[in-house]
Amino acid sequence: ETLINRIAAGEIIHRPASALKELIENSLDAGSTSIKVSVKDGGLKLLQIQDNGHGIRKTDLPILAERFTTSKISSFSDLSRIATYGFRGEALASISHVARLSVTTKTKKDGHAWKATYSDGVLVPAKAGQSADPKPSAGNDGTIITIEDLFFNTPTRLSALRSASDEYARILDVMTKYAVHNSRVSFQCKKAGSGSPELTTPANSTIPQAIKLLYGHTIANELLHATPTSSGEQDPDESMDVDEEDQDMDEKGSWRSEVYFTNANYQAKKTNFLLFINHRLVESSRMKRAVEAVYTSILPKGASPFVYLSLEVDPKHVDVNVHPTKKEVHFLNEDGITAEICSAVQATLAKQAT
Ligand code: ADP
Ligand code: MG
Repeated sequence: ETLINRIAAGEIIHRPASALKELIENSLDAGSTSIKVSVKDGGLKLLQIQDNGHGIRKTDLPILAERFTTSKISSFSDLSRIATYGFRGEALASISHVARLSVTTKTKKDGHAWKATYSDGVLVPAKAGQSADPKPSAGNDGTIITIEDLFFNTPTRLSALRSASDEYARILDVMTKYAVHNSRVSFQCKKAGSGSPELTTPANSTIPQAIKLLYGHTIANELLHATPTSSGEQDPDESMDVDEEDQDMDEKGSWRSEVYFTNANYQAKKTNFLLFINHRLVESSRMKRAVEAVYTSILPKGASPFVYLSLEVDPKHVDVNVHPTKKEVHFLNEDGITAEICSAVQATLAKQAT
């Protein structure tokens, strides 16, 4: 059973950067305004994340790393949202099967922090001879998650990875993207023991400010902005009857989006496409290709844009048949929504060109 758990965990946690993505999302879910990450050996030796969120109650610590432990589904109606948001209580459980996991956490109400150590889903003693119970510890409000020796017990996973520097680059990439999307939150990432962080953002920035800081002024200077949104609400016939409107919205699905994208002056070798659906970093090769197609008429051959797209759709409409841990997502009316977003981008580009 242990082996099966490890294999299953490896399907969810592919590499240090995928563990970090889960941890960042947890910190954001906890309302953090500051997220600090510290890394050793590309995250394989050490991956630590410190946030200033609401913390975890001591009573929740014993089951924290059990599968399907989540504090994020409070009512039955939320169940349909689980897959979309990734609230499935599998991240910490998975990590505990493939690494040494410890959690130091303090809520506002606690007088001090508590530290708990996990292995294979359950509490274990931090040191041989101690009890497995959470121990009183020093610590500020918020949570520190420490992952050590990732994949020490799954050599196949470990050998599938490339170099520590490659893994570190992926960690920085994930953090950079979340730092753009969550520009109000301050992010920091550094190698453990080294003085200056590789990545640091101030709190309360705007998205364009964050793009400028993280991707450089050559991109930021050429940015355009659009906010394509579903047109359902504006139809006067539908707004007559509230019930009918609700029903209609349900069928078609209301959605909204925010896009920052470069104009024809900016020409990169490869497309940089940052896609967030319902605030989760995802991949969609279909949407990426559609966005690239908009630029074929305005950029010379071989030149590519920078595009940040945040899309919010009804969680009910995201395809739950696609395994939620797969980054490729699908959602209802995907092609229709993509087409509307692309035509808004195209219109803004055309307007600027004249
Ligand atoms: P999920 O996010 O799907 O609920 P996880 O395995 O990622 O499942 O986390 C399990 C639970 O641990 C969360 O529901 C949350 O209650 C708690 N948790 C994890 N990380 C944090 C954090 N940084 N701050 C506060 N609570 C956290
Ligand atoms: Mg989570």
